[in-house]
Amino acid sequence: MTYRKETECVQGGWQPGDAQPRQVPIYQNTTWRYATSEHMGRLFDLQESGYFYTRLQNPTNDAVADKIRQLEGGAAAMLTSSGQAANFFALFNICEAGSHIVASSAIYGGTYNLIAVTMAKMGIESTFVSPSCTKEELEAAFRPNTRAVFGETIANPALAVLDIELFAQVAHEHGVPLVVDNTFPTPVNCRPLEWGANIVTHSTTKYMDGHGAAVGGAIVDGGTFDWMAHASKFPGLCTPDESYHGVVYAQDFGNEGAFITKATAQLMRDFGSIPSPQNAFILNLGLESLHVRMAQHCKNGEAVAQYLASHPKVSWVRYCGLPSDPYYALAQKYLPNGGCGVVSFGVAGGRAAAEKVMGGLKMASIATHVADARTCCLHPASSTHRQMSDAELEAAGVAPDLIRLSCGIEAAEDIIADIDQALALL
Ligand SMILES: *Cc1c(COP(=O)(O)O)cnc(C)c1O
Repeated sequence: MTYRKETECVQGGWQPGDAQPRQVPIYQNTTWRYATSEHMGRLFDLQESGYFYTRLQNPTNDAVADKIRQLEGGAAAMLTSSGQAANFFALFNICEAGSHIVASSAIYGGTYNLIAVTMAKMGIESTFVSPSCTKEELEAAFRPNTRAVFGETIANPALAVLDIELFAQVAHEHGVPLVVDNTFPTPVNCRPLEWGANIVTHSTTKYMDGHGAAVGGAIVDGGTFDWMAHASKFPGLCTPDESYHGVVYAQDFGNEGAFITKATAQLMRDFGSIPSPQNAFILNLGLESLHVRMAQHCKNGEAVAQYLASHPKVSWVRYCGLPSDPYYALAQKYLPNGGCGVVSFGVAGGRAAAEKVMGGLKMASIATHVADARTCCLHPASSTHRQMSDAELEAAGVAPDLIRLSCGIEAAEDIIADIDQALALL
């Protein structure tokens, strides 16, 4: 039986049998006992599925991953210990030394660093394109060794909306998959797989957990990319894995199972970025109310953006739900029910004025966190980017007066009243 998203948020993943726990149990164990070593050997050879060691798989994690898979409409999914691990695994599962990635330049700073600096040290090159590039500009970024295209549905913190259909079309014309980080809208507001993306990633630390309680990540594979049709590009999926007795993932597990089986069997085994089952349980509690919370985050984001847009001391506002926003048209297409609760804005008076407003906020807390039930805000120029001059900030696409406000699920009137009294200090 297939359910609507709201029902899947609550009911998905864990289906208890007769006299079993109603809530997903926390399997807080590292290992499983088997009666014979032959049985365990079959598990090690991937001939039979089953649990033996939590670094590879754990039933609590798998139940929660399956809920996220259902929400995204994917074929297979896995949890990781963080969003960083999810994006690294999603890309490194396809790329190797000598490969090349095309990525949107409007992405999370940590992911930019991962691709541009750390993966470069592994011999994986990258080219960054503007999220609003034309088809021709996007095509010009491809090289014969390009193996993946990467972008964020709504970029953190730039709030640019990705033209998923365009990026998917160009990726597919070049025989490579599109990987989309869907952290900000969550599957409640957008399902990138339906627009042609092949693999979706998440920092579940944000809205999915939603309570600032557990760092985590997820990867969902749509099962739609035909690896064997492009076998020469993806030897890791299409030729025997000698570290797993010659398994050929794309052949033995098909388009639907190859990607996640390889990421589990190779990358989890070798890098070990598994979440604790306790954290997966906490994530699941967040998922149970995700649809209710996202609606309130969007309602508050919209109200705050409208308030800011009409305030005389506010010099600019970015929110893709505002008709004046450069990404409004794309948001109407991909996010008809709303995007997220994150708004960015600048104040007259630049960096110093922004610091004054931040200092004046009473309810909104200053935090590096975002996408939380509690309203929080960040002024990059005086915190995460404080070593940079105004000129360096502009070059990095971060205005010196930029305040990133993540609207929580409190009453919109109270969030606005807090900003109002802080702006009155200017
Ligand atoms: C926070 C974030 C990440 C990194 O996730 P962690 O859980 O902090 O490792 C990746 N992508 C986006 C869009 C994010 O907002």
